[in-house]
Amino acid sequence: MVHGYKGVQFQNWAKTYGCCPEMYYQPTSVEEVREVLTLARQQNKRVKVVGGGHSPSDIACTDGFMIHMGKMNRVLQVDKEKKQVTVEAGILLTDLHPQLDKHGLAMSNLGAVSDVTIAGVIGSGTHNTGIKHGILATQVVALTLMTADGAVLECSESSNADVFQAARVHLGCLGVILTVTLQCVSQFQLQETSFPSTLKEVLDNLDSHLKKSEYFRFHWFPHSENVNIIYQDHTNKAPSSASNWFWDYAIGFYLLEFLLWISTYLPCLVGWINRFFFWLLFSHKKESSNLSHKIFTYECRFKQHVQDWAIPREKTKEALLELKAMLEAHPNVVAHFPVEVRFTRGDEILMSPCFQRDSCYVNIIIYRPYGKDVPRLDYWLAYETIMKKFGGRPHWAKAHNCTRKDFEKMYPAFKKFCNIREKLDPTGMFLNSYLEKVFY
Ligand SMILES: Cc1cc2nc3c(=O)[nH]c(=O)nc-3n(C[C@H](O)[C@H](O)[C@H](O)COP(=O)(O)OP(=O)(O)OC[C@H]3O[C@@H](n4cnc5c(N)ncnc54)[C@H](O)[C@@H]3O)c2cc1C
Repeated sequence: MVHGYKGVQFQNWAKTYGCCPEMYYQPTSVEEVREVLTLARQQNKRVKVVGGGHSPSDIACTDGFMIHMGKMNRVLQVDKEKKQVTVEAGILLTDLHPQLDKHGLAMSNLGAVSDVTIAGVIGSGTHNTGIKHGILATQVVALTLMTADGAVLECSESSNADVFQAARVHLGCLGVILTVTLQCVSQFQLQETSFPSTLKEVLDNLDSHLKKSEYFRFHWFPHSENVNIIYQDHTNKAPSSASNWFWDYAIGFYLLEFLLWISTYLPCLVGWINRFFFWLLFSHKKESSNLSHKIFTYECRFKQHVQDWAIPREKTKEALLELKAMLEAHPNVVAHFPVEVRFTRGDEILMSPCFQRDSCYVNIIIYRPYGKDVPRLDYWLAYETIMKKFGGRPHWAKAHNCTRKDFEKMYPAFKKFCNIREKLDPTGMFLNSYLEKVFY
């Protein structure tokens, strides 16, 4: 029988959201997951599955039953010919990479961190960059889902195709994802080249940058014209690294955190900090190469608040220039570096922020130096207004202020997703307060 724990407190990675679930379960098998759902039905409780707990929002929070999938984390099947791999949904990408390496395989694209589960990253619409690459959920070719009544649905293009089209970006509201089958590619190495530029140059030459590099993105340093361009491309070069403890940690982390903390008393310092750190760390070319997953991911040292909306790719220039103009017109609004700008191919997944359009993601951040919250409301509201004006859709994992009315306008297939959700979960077992704002 599955054992439940009382008194467990959950906090997300950035310690910005948390909850006290009534019961906490770590099932080890499909049968034990079913047992938890049976108990929840009998006691009329809500259920939330948590993966790596990295979402910077309350999307994974609940005061009902919490299921942690960390013990359902095996690689179940490897089809070397098709390059397809089936895994249990609770596997952390950090554990998946070495297993794929062993078989000469890799995921074709990844987000910035790997302490996250496969079900979590697909469910929240996690993305990276590369205009020929979709969000991570587009790498899924099949999945199995346990619905509120304990039934297991096998979903793919050829089986329960409607549910499959919804469940790849599932928001945690359709049931418990049990397994995921990924379309992988042959293992590959990437070379990363980063170099300085200006916002004008990069926006005037976007098409050319997108053509030049398979995984192109850039970091804009707000309160300035400075930009750091990052190209990542296939290579056969031997692994090499540009990292260095002094610059990465002593300067790029400890000194930066201290100065950001000082700036909480003197906000006018933020523009200077952005320019100073660009000059110190990003004003010259850097190169490194390694296995793809070691280049795609990096150590994220700072706890932070984030927003990350996807706008139509062709609106990139207008939207960023408007964000810049807003900051120039309101010198009291503080924006930490970087604003990260990434590009993603459109897809057909119902709740994907890239549904039916190639997109540009504009990710803004406000750090929490030594855990201290920095006022961000004005920046957040101005950013959301600009993103909405240009047809933006918020990242599901990251906190936003949108409600059902907004999503009805943003997502042509919103109704279709709602019908599927209501059919699979008629009593709302998998809802929480985050999802109530989305669906009610
Ligand atoms: C440092 C950092 C860097 C990041 N970088 C990126 C990035 O580069 N690109 C990007 O797009 N995002 C990024 N994110 C966001 C991150 O990818 C997402 O928050 C992702 O969902 C985290 O996965 P997780 O396993 O922690 O999911 P959780 O936060 O635990 O859960 C996310 C959602 O999935 C649901 N869920 C999880 N497992 C299951 C399951 N088995 N069945 C049903 N529902 C389930 C949860 O209920 C919740 O709704 C970053 C976040 C952090 C903290």
